[in-house]
Amino acid sequence: MRIENDLKLGFKDVMIRPKRSTLKSRSQVNLEREFTFLHSNIVWKGIPIMAANMDTVGTFEIAKALGKHNMFTAIHKHYTIEEWRDFASKADEKILRNLAVSTGTGKNDSNKVKQILTEFPSINFICIDVANGYSEHFVNFVQKMRKNHPNKVIIAGNVVTGEMVEELLLAGADIIKVGIGPGSVCTTRVKTGVGYPQLSAIIECADAAHGMGGQIISDGGCKTPGDIAKAFGGSADFVMLGGMLAGHKESGGNLIEKDGKKYKIFYGMSSETAMNKHVGGVAEYRASEGKTVEVPYRGKVEDTIIDILGGIRSTCTYVGASRLKELTKRTTFIRVQEQENQIYS
Ligand code: 5GP
Repeated sequence: MRIENDLKLGFKDVMIRPKRSTLKSRSQVNLEREFTFLHSNIVWKGIPIMAANMDTVGTFEIAKALGKHNMFTAIHKHYTIEEWRDFASKADEKILRNLAVSTGTGKNDSNKVKQILTEFPSINFICIDVANGYSEHFVNFVQKMRKNHPNKVIIAGNVVTGEMVEELLLAGADIIKVGIGPGSVCTTRVKTGVGYPQLSAIIECADAAHGMGGQIISDGGCKTPGDIAKAFGGSADFVMLGGMLAGHKESGGNLIEKDGKKYKIFYGMSSETAMNKHVGGVAEYRASEGKTVEVPYRGKVEDTIIDILGGIRSTCTYVGASRLKELTKRTTFIRVQEQENQIYS
């Protein structure tokens, strides 16, 4: 047993210090970034905020709404080939360029990915997603996928430490998804005691990835646009959102009504709800590591998108960053013991 005494920080432990700025207006801030990738020859340009590959969030409808803003969606892995055909044959190229096909490490999943990418070659991204990216089996799977898809951008995760970021990049991933336990409907930290505060995970994993020419996605734990800004400030290249995009017209999950108020069902992909839906229940040897919640219905996701982008533009003006790319360089975090005033919340 060993204890690391360095303090690890989450979004709630810091604020971004304002700095002198020459920007006159939020409209002067450019949130698009252009990335080239470690293993593939693809160039991607857009706003690097993405919907999570959860069946309540990473839907085709969300992809259409985010794609209009050049934002990204990791489409969940539970659509059938027929549903993909129906969507992709009508989707304009801009939407297809801004999405990833998701897969676990199972054979059926990877066969489906192959079929989708063969039928729709303008899709450039594969998201290989497992709850625990530390297993040797996962690394071998990433290697195999790199061999089978040499020209696609491979996202792999989730991990929270630099050495595993390096291992996955060496195995053939271009972008590493970072986050264990911070998610809004995640119970991993409660059920297992395992996790890593998200801001420190971002800072440490980005350092490892950038040193090798890779990128990272901060996945999970953002509750507000300010948290997204902190993730970018901490060096995340992309930020993935689940809960912040749940509960909308375009999100998945049933719409229910209680006492005249509308709610949408939102659940973790390792929750009992998800396992009942997709794999016929929770296997006896495992525990569910996700919650099921009812979130107030929020209407069109467009309003939420505008709110998020407006918030991040404002962060940039507070620190004098005319482009999102400059935000990390211009970020000084201060450690704090308070956040917002909650008197009216
Ligand atoms: P959020 O933005 O809602 O805070 O976090 C979204 C992320 O939570 C997802 O992208 C995924 O990494 C993670 N997640 C989704 N479902 C589950 C689950 O059932 N269990 C755990 N441990 N994590 C989940």
